[in-house]
Amino acid sequence: MFFGPSKMMHFQSRQRWHLFWIGAAIACWCWAGRVGVSAPLAQRAATPVVVATTTMVADLVRQVGGMRITVDCLMAPGVDPHSYKATPRDIDRLMRADLVVASGLHLEGKLSDLLSRLEKRVPVLMVADALPHDRLLAIGPELYDPHVWFDAQLWSLCPAVVAAALEKIDPSGQEHYRSRAVAYAASLVALDAKLRDRIASIPQQQRVLVTAHDAFRYFGRAYGLEVVGVQGTSTESEAGLNDINRLVELVVSRRIPAVFVETSVSDRNLMALREGAMAHSQKVKLGGRLYSDSLGTVASGADTLAKALIANAETIAVGLSEGH
Ligand code: ZN
Repeated sequence: MFFGPSKMMHFQSRQRWHLFWIGAAIACWCWAGRVGVSAPLAQRAATPVVVATTTMVADLVRQVGGMRITVDCLMAPGVDPHSYKATPRDIDRLMRADLVVASGLHLEGKLSDLLSRLEKRVPVLMVADALPHDRLLAIGPELYDPHVWFDAQLWSLCPAVVAAALEKIDPSGQEHYRSRAVAYAASLVALDAKLRDRIASIPQQQRVLVTAHDAFRYFGRAYGLEVVGVQGTSTESEAGLNDINRLVELVVSRRIPAVFVETSVSDRNLMALREGAMAHSQKVKLGGRLYSDSLGTVASGADTLAKALIANAETIAVGLSEGH
């Protein structure tokens, strides 16, 4: 095809316009892209970053901080905090934090040294260490059971402690943190009553909770359950054959219908216990999986402490009430 001079010029000018518009579009796209990427970054930089160790603590900090803070949780759902060791990436996350919030009372056994060294550079709050010691369960001289989140009433003292720490790193958010802490504490007190009612629905002689490790003593004390763990208060200690035999005897003599596995602990010992009871012709079923030292994923529906405690109370009540 042949274009005359005027047609050729027309074509060239149209092509130039076309190129101009493509260039303009690319420029706009780049600009929009820059805005799109830089806005959240700027937002993130302006928002204090709080690194929490466990999923329970991350939930507590989120409830108090709301949208004013960014919460980064070291441990994923299902991870056992007693045996968790920091990775090089964790150390980097901890060093960059504006505030580190740990559960405390030696729950994070393998992180203790790291957290105390970190305190020289970053503010570190050990939530449960701030609780009145006369409300804690002693497990030795100056040593307390760390599983305090299972008593919603006791945990309701923690939001104020977190609010005080957040105020220090973000003073202009004082009102925000304080009012959210008060509201969350009130919701935990309401939850406490709900849990007590649910456990009270189990026939009295069946209110015995046998689990993989001794995480539920606060839960038992608060809601009226006798609690027996195959392992001690830390998963670090191994259960011996004597422990298992003692529990088999208990399960058989009390005719306990169910034992419970935990999401963050191996169920090997509970299986041995079940087999032991079977040998005495006592059928013991697995009453379900309890959230112990970790909350669930979002998909599990137990990604907040309140939801996990309700799920646990329901699993326990259904498991122990069967046959009645
Ligand atoms: Zn534990």
